[in-house]
Amino acid sequence: MAIYREVETDVYCDVCGEHVIGWRSAGQGVSRSWAAYYARKKGCTTGKRIVCKKCRIEQRKRQCSLIKRYGHPPIEKTGECLGFSNEKDDEPIEKCKRCIACSSFDWEEERKRLSV
Ligand SMILES: [Zn+2]
Repeated sequence: MAIYREVETDVYCDVCGEHVIGWRSAGQGVSRSWAAYYARKKGCTTGKRIVCKKCRIEQRKRQCSLIKRYGHPPIEKTGECLGFSNEKDDEPIEKCKRCIACSSFDWEEERKRLSV
């Protein structure tokens, strides 16, 4: 059967509109749930809306109670927050380390956690 069908699957951020990930494939293509899975592995949240890693970081910083109370700690050029630290050392406090907006957040670990 000389019917060729190519399916394009693309994931965009619902906040900034940035293209997160995409596939072109013959036949069935990538299912929505797999597309969401790979988008999550790239740091997105995929509920009703897709929110990319960059926008999640921005939202988290806006909602941060520590930032509201104490003002913004220094940020990386990439927009990641360097977090709050104790006076004694430069290490961010535990709360910050677990925050996705923090530059010390372990995205590699998060990817492993999300893996099926
Ligand atoms: Zn975005």
